[in-house]
Amino acid sequence: MLIDLNRFKELNDTLGHAAGDQLLREIRPRLLAVSSGAELVARIGGDEFAVILAPGCGAAEGERIAERLCVALEEPFDVQDLTLRVGASVGIAVYPEHADDADTLLKRADVAMYSAKKHGVGHELYDAAYDGHSRQRLALIGELPAAIASGQLVVHYQPKYDLQNGAIVGVEALVRWQHPIHGLLQPDQFVALAEHAGVMRQLTHSVLDTALAQCARWWAEGLDLCVAVNLGAPNLLDAALPLEVKRLLDKWRLPVASLQLEITETIVSNDRASMIDVLRQLRTLGVTLSLDDFGVGSSSLSFLRHLPVQELKIDRSFIIDLDTDDHNAAMVRTIIDLAHSFDMRVVAEGIETESIRDRLASYGCDEGQGFLLGRPMPGGQLTKLARTAAAKRPIALAAAAIRH
Ligand code: C2E
Ligand code: MG
Ligand code: MG
Repeated sequence: MLIDLNRFKELNDTLGHAAGDQLLREIRPRLLAVSSGAELVARIGGDEFAVILAPGCGAAEGERIAERLCVALEEPFDVQDLTLRVGASVGIAVYPEHADDADTLLKRADVAMYSAKKHGVGHELYDAAYDGHSRQRLALIGELPAAIASGQLVVHYQPKYDLQNGAIVGVEALVRWQHPIHGLLQPDQFVALAEHAGVMRQLTHSVLDTALAQCARWWAEGLDLCVAVNLGAPNLLDAALPLEVKRLLDKWRLPVASLQLEITETIVSNDRASMIDVLRQLRTLGVTLSLDDFGVGSSSLSFLRHLPVQELKIDRSFIIDLDTDDHNAAMVRTIIDLAHSFDMRVVAEGIETESIRDRLASYGCDEGQGFLLGRPMPGGQLTKLARTAAAKRPIALAAAAIRH
């Protein structure tokens, strides 16, 4: 059994190492008290412990002991006059069902422990299905760099509409991976892997290049759409990003008003100073910055006030039940007013019904995006949609083009 404390890092960072050390010492008697009959109880590093049960102890006995361990570690600890709740996640792997050597057994207990932690369930028994996932994950991480270099990334575009006049004002570029075996993979299946593999820079450059190439074709035929590209955390730590953006805009002979960059609230709040520096430089170039998934993070208002962003995108979790949840409706109205008082534009994501669209328009929301208005689609399809819209609304589109 592999045991990892749930809130140790947080407590250690907040209260200091002396308190962390004291807490770790208090863990030992609790582990010993509930794992009688164990062959070995050990600390294997940091806040990780391992328990080896006696030979012949099966999965059922392992789960019973793990349950007792979780209960024991859920009990508060007294450290430096504070009462602290820590809790633990336990992963169990059994010999010989799950592995027949120590290394593999420990790895599998680790996989089970991570799953227990992720699901917030206390303890979990190793399940062979995990490994299928982690093996596929590893394979994908390995393939990503070459896939990016050889042009397997595909960009789809979701239209953004002006909610006040109904015109298409721009698109969001959303990456997909056309995988030779697994088919079209969605961003939640590989963008996080790109961070792990250290290739976010290549991924973002590839999306920027593709999206700006498409955008240049639109501008060439008079469809002055603004394209929004998503950035990941590593991009905001990359001091070379502003120059690369400039180089690509020049390469495609596009005005800076044709590009928007989306960042999420959670990524900027991590390493603020250097990220804000990159954002300022992008801003100096004249690129519009947009704060994505707004509302699910925890930035303070004063932090927001000082972020150089010109647009807020309200997270779709607030939009989806706008019709039925009065509290969400009140919050969305407040966010719209707040953004306007900061001179920011507001975009609502995830509009799926007409009544929600109309409600947002009546709240004064500037732009909207969602399955009702248009799903993410290949560039060619978006071109047709924009042409039709432009033919119907020549005046609105012209107005949208000068809104920057
Ligand atoms: P996001 O930036 O918030 O993008 C919007 C996501 O919401 C898209 O999912 C879109 O298909 C989905 N969506 C739009 N309208 C609706 C709706 O009405 N209902 C529902 N249920 N969903 C809607 P997608 O394409 O799967 O992208 C997911 C996330 O992956 C994006 O969230 C973004 O954070 C990330 N992502 C996508 N492309 C890139 C990229 O090129 N670079 C980076 N760093 N992240 C990307
Ligand atoms: Mg986005
Ligand atoms: Mg979003």
